[in-house]
Order: sequence, then structure tokens, then C-alpha cells
Amino acid sequence: MKIYISADFEGVCGVVERAQCFPDNPDFERTRRLWVEQINAIVEGTMSAGASEFVVNEAHGAMNYMLPEILHPRASFVSGYVKEDNQMEGLDNSFAGAVIMGHAMAGTANGVLNHTYVMRDVVELRLNGEPIGELGLNAYWASYLGVPVILVIGDDKAAEESRALIPEIETAVVKHGLSQFSAHNLPLGAALELIRKCSKRAVERIKEIPPVKLLKSYELEIDFSLSEIAHLCSFIPGVERTGARTVQYAASDYREVQHVRIVCTNLALSVVRAHF
Ligand SMILES: [Zn+2]
Repeated sequence: MKIYISADFEGVCGVVERAQCFPDNPDFERTRRLWVEQINAIVEGTMSAGASEFVVNEAHGAMNYMLPEILHPRASFVSGYVKEDNQMEGLDNSFAGAVIMGHAMAGTANGVLNHTYVMRDVVELRLNGEPIGELGLNAYWASYLGVPVILVIGDDKAAEESRALIPEIETAVVKHGLSQFSAHNLPLGAALELIRKCSKRAVERIKEIPPVKLLKSYELEIDFSLSEIAHLCSFIPGVERTGARTVQYAASDYREVQHVRIVCTNLALSVVRAHF
């Protein structure tokens, strides 16, 4: 049984502020170690319920932060950027289930490190009129491939967001959000134990957890911080600028929507880098 793991930094117990997530901070090496240890707990937990193959996909920043020397010896890993399927690269229909370590969408009150791809510059992203974040968009992609997301690991707000989308999902709450940049974290040992326990239970319950229901057509809307980002995105064929800072794209194929989203959020990063 193959298990897929998409692992972002902001869902890690002990990580609460942005500086901890990027390489120019002295705490960054510690964040990497905490992240890998918590990924290993997913591998151990799912393995104890019968999983035998594990693929870990890096889902944070430049996506090249793995420490292979301490990653569980049974897990292979996908690193680097750009990847066609981004935070879900490497997933296909041979997997029995997917596990996401992640965070709540942009604008979630007291969601630790809440954002949607580009902190500050993606103000809100909507799918068919409803605000959605990385967890939801990744769950749709997993569904497109016929794979259920069986477990989300992160703070209490990420867990809530996941259950709103997939009521049957397992969630491992390793920290309680006090604000966007603070949390009450579990003791590390308890967090690792909880991740193992929830991972085991998620595999045991795998048949009870359905993929999210796919839609007939998708309308993606993104509100950016800067009008210039919307301007640049509107150059993509099919992307319409519906407001000074808003773009829209509609398609019946979810992969198309995902690719347009990836390009738009990368354009946002390039505008910010060019002007700030
Ligand atoms: Zn991240």
C-alpha cells in the first residue's frame, strides 16, 4: 500500500513565525529537523497499519530543504522547483491515500502562518465563489487522480478547514493557533505520538474517507495585494481581469485551473521581487 505525503513547514509543531520558515534565519536548521522528524512519524504510523511505500513531496518555499540523512529510510522524496503538480507532485492513482502537513487559508482568524501560496500578496483565492486554501486545492487535485486525503496535520484551524471539506478526514492538531504568528504547541514527544496515532488510524479508516467531490466546472478567482500582479496575470490567455486587483479563470478540467494558479502565484512573486 502506497502513501503519499505532501509536507509544508507551516503545519509543523514548534513553527509559528515566518522567520523560522526561511533560510536566512538561524532557527531554520532546527525547523528542517522538526519537519523531517514529524514526517518520519507519519511514515511510522501509516506503516504500523500496513502501508509499505512512502513518497514525500516537499511543499514549502523553494522545496529543496529535505535532510535525507535523517528522513525515514523507507521514504523516497521529491525535491526542487518548479514541479508541474507543485505541492502534490508525484501523486498518481497508484496511491491508496494522501497525507497533508499544512496550514489554514489566507485570512483565517488566528490560523498559524495562515496564507494561500504567497503570504500577504494573495489576499483571497476562491473556487466557484467560495474561499479556498492550499489544503482544499490540493484535495481537489488528489480527487482528480482518485486519491482521498486521509489525514491533515497542522494547527486547529487547518484541521477545522479540512473537516469542512472532508468531514470524515483524520486530523492531527499539533498546535493551537493564538494568532497568525503565535501558537500553543504540544510537547514535541506528544506531537510525534499524536501524528503516529492519527496516521495509523487514517490508514485503518481509509475506506471510510472519500475523495472530495469533483465539480463539473471550475471558476478560479484570485484577489492580489497589488494591481500590478492582476495586470500581469491578465496577459495569460483565458485569464480575465475582473477588478483592479482580481483575476478570474474558468475551465472544466481541474488540472488547467491548477496550472493557471501556479503561473499566477509565481507572477505575484516576481512582481513583489521586482518592486520591493
Ligand atoms: Zn510553506
